[in-house]
Amino acid sequence: MKLIRWQRKYLMQNILIAILLVALFVLLSVHAIPRETPVAVAPVEDEPAPPPPPVYELAPFEGRVEHIFFHPLIAYPERAFDGDYQAQGLDDYFVTAKEANALLDALYEKGFMLVDINKMFTVNEDGTLSQNAFLFPVNKKPLVISLDDVNYYEYMLEHGMVSKLVLDSKGEIATESVNLAGETEIRRDLEIIPIIDQFVKDHPDFSFEGAKGVVGLTGYEGILGYRTHADSPNRESEIEAVKPIINRLKETGWTFASHSYAHRNTPDLSYEVLLEDTRKWQAEVQSLIGPTPIYLYPYGSGLKVGDPRLSMLREHGFMMFCHVGVESYIKYTDSAIVLDRRHVDGIAFRQQRELNLDLYDADLIFDPVRDILFE
Ligand SMILES: [Zn+2]
Repeated sequence: MKLIRWQRKYLMQNILIAILLVALFVLLSVHAIPRETPVAVAPVEDEPAPPPPPVYELAPFEGRVEHIFFHPLIAYPERAFDGDYQAQGLDDYFVTAKEANALLDALYEKGFMLVDINKMFTVNEDGTLSQNAFLFPVNKKPLVISLDDVNYYEYMLEHGMVSKLVLDSKGEIATESVNLAGETEIRRDLEIIPIIDQFVKDHPDFSFEGAKGVVGLTGYEGILGYRTHADSPNRESEIEAVKPIINRLKETGWTFASHSYAHRNTPDLSYEVLLEDTRKWQAEVQSLIGPTPIYLYPYGSGLKVGDPRLSMLREHGFMMFCHVGVESYIKYTDSAIVLDRRHVDGIAFRQQRELNLDLYDADLIFDPVRDILFE
């Protein structure tokens, strides 16, 4: 076939385009073949991937579960230890953020592991209670941490505690506070809840099945730093604001307890006054966090089994009644579980080092900032 000149020119061009296309295809294909050395990809997350969940040998645990408790931490010691009328009480009953970190290290080194307090008992079909021999890792010691007064009362703010729990930009529990320069800060290293959250992230074998601790709440100044109580001027908006915090705490292994509504000394209260206090707590606090079987007595002393006031609390859904003592004493009856929690505070650090050596050495925990008088 004889081609005329313009036809030949176009044929040559088409062949050239075809060769170029084939070359391009080959180049792309070679590029697409997986290489021996993977190309470095910029990490999407700031944080490293969490370590794989630990695997444990489990056995029924029937010994004594240690139970310790704290108050909200002293985030700014300069405000706490300033020699005012509250300074002694703060030294006696509170712990600094630095001490809390050292304590967790000590507990972890001794083999303690957080466990859900609700594993400690079973509610039988007839409504009676019995001790629960729950499965637990054989080489670990179960520990419950409870926290009293996670309310961030007005008085606490002037004395070095944070103002409220909030969610940070990643949706994690953090705190809001005003620092010494007067600036509002969102941080995760000033309060025991985010400190434990981070500690468990870094040491997954400090928490059995994701358990964290028990958050004890009164009601008279709202909860978690939100003024949700009945006579609060912003009650409705504060209730809306606290809901995501409650949900996030529950999602991340925290449970709740009653610390009474008005924080009065339970044995001094008449049946009627305690009943009214309990009804207010259920109306204003339980309505937000849900029912709980755990009751943490204010000031640490409570009622004997057989006391009609204890039966009244039991009828309101409370089953486990926590006093304060120097040992993790526990007694099960078929109507109530009564136990002592060990206090972690300045009194324990200064005066009870020997008693607590099974948990930590106070000399290694004590924050010397306590002995500085800030003017
Ligand atoms: Zn209290």
